[in-house]
Amino acid sequence: MIAYDEFAQSEINRLIPIQDRFKEEFNIDSYANWFYDDESEILRLHNSEDDEVFFRYIPIGTYSFLKKTWMWSWFNNYLNEKNKIETLKIKQFGKENNFEKLTTGTFPSDTFDGWEFLAISQSILKGIGVYNINCDNLNYYVLLKEKIAPENNSEITKLKQKKLECGNHGFKRPAFVCQHLEIDSNNGFEEAFETFKGMDLEEDDDFSAWCNDCEKKRIEHNGWDDESMKFAKIKLVCEDCYFEMKESNSRKL
Ligand SMILES: [Zn+2]
Ligand SMILES: [Zn+2]
Repeated sequence: MIAYDEFAQSEINRLIPIQDRFKEEFNIDSYANWFYDDESEILRLHNSEDDEVFFRYIPIGTYSFLKKTWMWSWFNNYLNEKNKIETLKIKQFGKENNFEKLTTGTFPSDTFDGWEFLAISQSILKGIGVYNINCDNLNYYVLLKEKIAPENNSEITKLKQKKLECGNHGFKRPAFVCQHLEIDSNNGFEEAFETFKGMDLEEDDDFSAWCNDCEKKRIEHNGWDDESMKFAKIKLVCEDCYFEMKESNSRKL
């Protein structure tokens, strides 16, 4: 039976020319910024609104600089990407070949392990290239499956609207609610237009809602004027918070 180290090295050697071609074709090193969206499983590399490229990715695993440990995506409950279950194929391959590093969810490691795992993932899950997203204390290793054309793609429109960072939900689209709406309140929920979670929005539209008292005030004042606006004191929340508020504030009293 082949030793793991030997196998991993041959996988690295195999990945290098593939990765070189990939970087050249898409000019990967020219992009200064990244943004990934775990809902659509799309990675955006960009310099400006127009100078950008999009890829569908599979999260392979993370390396923590604080704990100095590797964690496979199939083991990581904090990852929301549905396609992380693809990495179970790597675990299965590890099981068949008795490669302990591929079957253990998390263990002491270094950044080089991550590249070996990406190389192995590339051959098992068939990607076009790999990418290391360097967050503060974490390397997030992803396999890129395909390039996505941004034209007329509602997933990408939505991704680019996710500009608000919520402490609970990460990067999401912004939403507006009156000061009387909270996640656990029950004050009524009037909306500017009918909504459902995850719906597409036109460029000029925003989720916006207010309570029963604000609705009374708005009607008294024939719409939104200085005084009814002052009463509502609209605040900014993320879209996920918005739909949590919608649920609790729509309960019948
Ligand atoms: Zn209100
Ligand atoms: Zn939120």
